[in-house]
Amino acid sequence: MNVDDVPEVPEWLPGHLRDGGIEELYPPQAEAVEKGVTEGDSLVASVPTASGKTLIAELAMLSSVARGGKALYIVPLRALASEKQEEFEQFEQYGLSVGVSTGNYESEGEWLSSSDIVVATSEKVDSLVRNGASWIDDLSCVVSDEVHLVDDAHRGPTLEVTLAKLRRLNPNLQTVALSATVGNAEQMADWLDAELVDSEWRPIELRTGVHYGQALHFDDGDKRELPVRGNEKPTSAIVRDTLDEDGSTLVFVNSRRNAEGAAKRLAGVVAETLTNEEREALGEVAAEIREVSDTETSDDLAKAVEQGAAFHHAGLARDHRSLVEEAFQDRLIRVVSATPTLAAGVNTPSRRVVVRDWRRYDGSVGGMAPLSVLEVHQMFGRAGRPGLDPYGEALLLANSHDELDELFERYVWADPEAVQSKLAAEPALRTHVLATVASGFADSRESLLSFLEQTLYATQTDEPGRLERVTDDVVAYLVANEFLEKDGDSLAATSIGHTVSRLYLDPMSAAEIIDGLRGTTDTTAMGLYHLVSRTPDMYDLYLRSGDREQYTMLAYERESEFLGAMPSEFEDGRFEDWLSALKTARMLEDWASEVEEERLAERYGVGPGDVRGKVDTAEWLLGAAERLAGELDLTIAPSIREARVRVKHGVGEDLIDLAGVRGVGRKRARRLYEAGIEDRAGLREADKSVVLGALRGRTQTAESILQNAGRDDPAMDGVREDPDAKSAAL
Ligand code: ADP
Repeated sequence: MNVDDVPEVPEWLPGHLRDGGIEELYPPQAEAVEKGVTEGDSLVASVPTASGKTLIAELAMLSSVARGGKALYIVPLRALASEKQEEFEQFEQYGLSVGVSTGNYESEGEWLSSSDIVVATSEKVDSLVRNGASWIDDLSCVVSDEVHLVDDAHRGPTLEVTLAKLRRLNPNLQTVALSATVGNAEQMADWLDAELVDSEWRPIELRTGVHYGQALHFDDGDKRELPVRGNEKPTSAIVRDTLDEDGSTLVFVNSRRNAEGAAKRLAGVVAETLTNEEREALGEVAAEIREVSDTETSDDLAKAVEQGAAFHHAGLARDHRSLVEEAFQDRLIRVVSATPTLAAGVNTPSRRVVVRDWRRYDGSVGGMAPLSVLEVHQMFGRAGRPGLDPYGEALLLANSHDELDELFERYVWADPEAVQSKLAAEPALRTHVLATVASGFADSRESLLSFLEQTLYATQTDEPGRLERVTDDVVAYLVANEFLEKDGDSLAATSIGHTVSRLYLDPMSAAEIIDGLRGTTDTTAMGLYHLVSRTPDMYDLYLRSGDREQYTMLAYERESEFLGAMPSEFEDGRFEDWLSALKTARMLEDWASEVEEERLAERYGVGPGDVRGKVDTAEWLLGAAERLAGELDLTIAPSIREARVRVKHGVGEDLIDLAGVRGVGRKRARRLYEAGIEDRAGLREADKSVVLGALRGRTQTAESILQNAGRDDPAMDGVREDPDAKSAAL
């Protein structure tokens, strides 16, 4: 189908697509148009990675907006929101406006009412619905990207319930669900009352196979010699072979540590082939990486990049990730070893893909478990760059002849699994039942069950009565904790229940927090950090070997600070959880005592991105605790506030005021303090030369900080640094 023949899209679109090199729609795109995706019909598109799903979404959204509507694009990961936003901003030249909503869970979405296209995560949309954002009612089209993630135990249920809510709010809503190829696409289409495009088509030929011994064995029966030198690893041999053909390799491994280790090793292989020019360009990228942060991870990454290799995982700073992605797309970096985050939607195709580890640690089974076919096929899908490579190749690695056979059976020839709803898992249902009642989608047991009937779970369950049974259990829990009130058959949220739902807390977290705060009048920051770390909304740090002893001692030392009774050492599971929460709380306490990020990463065995993640979660949970304390008239709110502000800025008590001044931050706050400036008022009155000295002579920074502190005359013209201030601060 030619781009001119697509009905109901804006006039400018065919020309715009042609300018971008798109003349003909890909076959799955054409099928989507034939099935009415530009005419407002709902659609499930189950097609392989990199076969043009984004354009299907754009066709739906743009035609919907052209008819006077408003579109919402739901992304599975926050990191993808800005990527999609940038992609859709190309339409702003035609008068459309694009907004993104990724902030924290409170209602701040009203400004989005003027956007034609809004990008948000499912959690954010759920929160906007809970908080009654009015523009949600104006939606005419919703796109759900990577909808197969409804299968994800943590985040799937939110997506599932959010789609059900949006469809309940507007029964005429066009729903477009984009999915990797899955085993039950038809069922997904049934669930969403949608047309189906179920295709295996790819824009570039994909050969898949397994490396074993000294050869590559392909799915078409072809076999190619690929000698492995001496005691080198097969991955190195494959990377060298790809380089010989001037291609790049993407290696998927199962942990961050393995990604870092593999990059280090593979860098040696790439380095042998680099020209001086390439070395120079790589040196520049490495310098930019070191600019981003001064941590060990940053340094390791820069060292690999200097040699043309890199690692990529969710523990990297965002700027690091995008530098790696860009340099890989520009073919400067020739090999990237990644955890599966990179397969999940970042568009970084490569000539070859190697799935090195097909098993990874799974906490729920307490050991290694094989990846799903769906995941492996998504990684495979990143092989081959249309228009640049003749074909793509995706490989697994076998250690024995038996494993060779197994991998062919298990992955190469296998069909992907069916997507299964995880809504019936208790934490998910707990959260969503409360929210469904609190935001007015149900006011009785009957209407609650009829709402839940619209979920994928209901479409799938063949066990009659199961949904009713788990729903009744969850309602009983919510009533017992006073989040819901039951009167005969009717259900209503209590005032605290409404707050919990709006705060986006798991009701169990709220119950734990309320329980800990009740009856307490005073506490330390540690007590509060531990309390919020105990909730199911915080993913705690793991205990490593030796940790148990260390944190058991700490638990006894600081027992008086904890809110709530410490479990006995003999209650194994509960005590372990208590200690993991303590380890997490200790990290937060260190952070709020100005320990350097790099030291924290080392001390707790995590990446800088993880420190940030825990800090953000703690800040959010403490904010929620503050609200709950206020609502319950508990006198402890000021201590919570102090603990929250300290964790937010990562500073001690004495710096709370200073660190709150925009542009100051933890390090500068400490330097100012040491130069004798103790708070905002102090900044307004201080001798400018002292300020400049503490800020290491940075005139512009000093001016903007003084201005932010409310000083009338922030100008630094002619001011010289006070050398004493500088030395005091060093
Ligand atoms: P998916 O979301 O399915 O993984 P994308 O939407 O990211 O895949 O598309 C992959 C690439 O294909 C993009 O670079 C896109 O510009 C290009 N593309 C999409 N549709 C067409 C088309 N009809 N003709 C040529 N290139 C296309």
